[in-house]
Amino acid sequence: MKKRIISAVIAASLTLSAVSCGKKAESSAGTIKIAYLPITHSLAVLEEAEELEQQSGLKVELVKYGSWNELLDALNSNRVDGASVLIELAMKSKQEGIGIKAVALGHHDGNVIIVSNDIATAADLKGKTFAIPHRQSSHNILLNDALATAGLTIDDVNVTELAPTEMPSALASGQIDGYCVAEPFGAMGVSLGAGKVLFSSEELWKDSLCCGLVLTDKFIDERHDDAKSFVENYKKAGNSLDKAKAKETAKKYFSQSDEVLDISLQWISYNDLDITETIIQHTCRKGKGIRPLR
Ligand code: ZN
Repeated sequence: MKKRIISAVIAASLTLSAVSCGKKAESSAGTIKIAYLPITHSLAVLEEAEELEQQSGLKVELVKYGSWNELLDALNSNRVDGASVLIELAMKSKQEGIGIKAVALGHHDGNVIIVSNDIATAADLKGKTFAIPHRQSSHNILLNDALATAGLTIDDVNVTELAPTEMPSALASGQIDGYCVAEPFGAMGVSLGAGKVLFSSEELWKDSLCCGLVLTDKFIDERHDDAKSFVENYKKAGNSLDKAKAKETAKKYFSQSDEVLDISLQWISYNDLDITETIIQHTCRKGKGIRPLR
């Protein structure tokens, strides 16, 4: 799994040049349609949508989806120009021949392993049911990493795929014993009193990869200058997202309580969203040196 994600990032880094070098004459500025899920991992693109119009006149139309599969359908069929999406899912599409490029990271860290209150250590997860949003996700990698700290493997737990919104209540009702998913659903489990944080992502995987900003080849080819401006401003928006601003933006787009957002936003950051060579090298070294490639 990690090997796959490493090659995905390398592929992503190579594509950066497609956005940073000139290609063809530019069409006039217009609306850019960007797909997102209502998760804190998409906040940089939500923040940018507001800033970009004020600064450059480019209008961003945000298109909200309820699941990764719906979002990918829109992205893969060019119904949107780009998306904030799990890098692994985007790269799976790319491997299947879909014309998309990862141009920036979505965030740093920002995932947690949530478990029921009766689980004290990773070893207690043996024989338990654990939910992830998708097999092709960083959340699956983080589950593997958490289990490895206790000498367990994925075969020692029952893994189930659940929609993110269902996870906090599934934990509260005892249907599952733990989960790992995009935020703020981990924080919701904590806020409900249904569970607690067993690990944060950075404890298991430093500089972990999760979401990325992905643009379609069609958009980059047809509106190259807009794409370039969009990516530059996206990174600026990420840099501007301190905790207070992130919360303010989140409150505009999500119906989440202050408590949930306060818990969740302490786990994530949005500065320096470049996909750099350093990140790739570090991830490669980490994957080879410390735990087996999956
Ligand atoms: Zn993410």
